[in-house]
Amino acid sequence: MEAYIQQNIPVNLHPERRTKLDVIQKFVADMEREGKDEHFLVCDIGDIIKKYQQWSQLLPRVKLFYAVKCNTDRVLLQILSDLGASFDCASKMEIEKVLGLGVSPDRVIYTHPHKLNTSLIYAERHSVSLMTFDSEIELHKIKSLHPTARLVLRILLFEQFEADEKFGSKFGCPSDQTRDLLQLAKELELVVVGVSFHVGSGIKDARAYIAAIQQSRKTFQIAQEVGFIMNVLDIGGGFPGAQDTSDFFHEIASVVNETLNDLFPADEGVDIIGEPGAYVATSAYSSLVNIIGKRWCSKKPLLTERYNKPEKNSWNSCEEDRNTYMYYLNDSVFGNFLDGTLYTGCTTYIPKRIKTTNDTVSYGSILWGFTCAGNDCVNPSIRLPELDVGEWLYFEDMGAYTLSMASNFNGLETPEIKYYCSEDLWLQVYPKTITISRDQTRQ
Ligand SMILES: *Cc1c(COP(=O)(O)O)cnc(C)c1O
Repeated sequence: MEAYIQQNIPVNLHPERRTKLDVIQKFVADMEREGKDEHFLVCDIGDIIKKYQQWSQLLPRVKLFYAVKCNTDRVLLQILSDLGASFDCASKMEIEKVLGLGVSPDRVIYTHPHKLNTSLIYAERHSVSLMTFDSEIELHKIKSLHPTARLVLRILLFEQFEADEKFGSKFGCPSDQTRDLLQLAKELELVVVGVSFHVGSGIKDARAYIAAIQQSRKTFQIAQEVGFIMNVLDIGGGFPGAQDTSDFFHEIASVVNETLNDLFPADEGVDIIGEPGAYVATSAYSSLVNIIGKRWCSKKPLLTERYNKPEKNSWNSCEEDRNTYMYYLNDSVFGNFLDGTLYTGCTTYIPKRIKTTNDTVSYGSILWGFTCAGNDCVNPSIRLPELDVGEWLYFEDMGAYTLSMASNFNGLETPEIKYYCSEDLWLQVYPKTITISRDQTRQ
């Protein structure tokens, strides 16, 4: 059954719980019936709803500001807005997108510490006033273009923990400059209301949040000495979002709650906000690709140097000369499989088959991306049973930093997104949904 609500979200509602594979198979059958072979994405809206609910339950004091850059899909933003989320935007275009949904400007934080003049003017005109800074130059800029802004000092964390993407020294005021910077804000008669940090995307150690909240507390103290009474603590992003990370998220939530209750007790009245991106988006999306070509090599082929690093090769050297299957996919590292070295560091893309077979033989395989670039390789080294041309494969956990970073290089299509949701979860958010059948929606 397909439902359209006021915001025009085309969603397939399922009265009963269905497995992801089940739903994917149905979408693939639709594609085949329509004679299409372009790559596409499947989004489980129920997964987004569950993530939001879990956040509210496990981190009741932390208001969720979704980091828009992670995935800018309009439907995702709409669902989050309807659930009551707020938004972390880092550019004029992201702010426009969010305000365009009817989100009020007080549900937006502008998190780029170095803003374009024109974007700052735009923010001022549209009453977006909560924003971060980490430098003197930015304070002067804000003083002249948006003097009533409510400022949040982004701090550089002095204790670094392992993460996929560290923001390293790019952003954040070092602690030895904090006092002077706050002093300047005071002299300029600007309003500094809080502190923000980011422990790094894909953080591996929950203790990163403890250290960062402790450092924030010290910064609150310095601000008070300078004459600011701050009331916002922004604990940034970094929360895991893939399917198998629920235990780690629970661990982070309990560590964060404990540290907050210790250092920022509720009765102190500090508003705590968080900016999860990957947490919200990762597991909701699966990517569907079609095998459009195939070749067989009697020797392991030469790959460009970057794919020959030992850590990237899962099949070992004694097999070097065995047969290899090379498959050509209709998606690419310039599309949804962006080589994570640029952002998240995740590079191992493992496909799942839609066909259920019980193959026992497997072969060294290479999954090439669509474009003509020699290094467009989705997986340079994986053991797979023999796959067929025309077969569809799916990759899970594809919602974060995929679509939002994908390009149209070499004529890569922007993928269609197909949405589904279990009816009970959907009705929790949209109790007044009127469902209409597919046929009625087609004129
Ligand atoms: C990218 C970003 C986030 C989101 O990070 P995730 O690791 O995806 O949760 C949050 N805040 C800021 C300032 C960011 O730049």
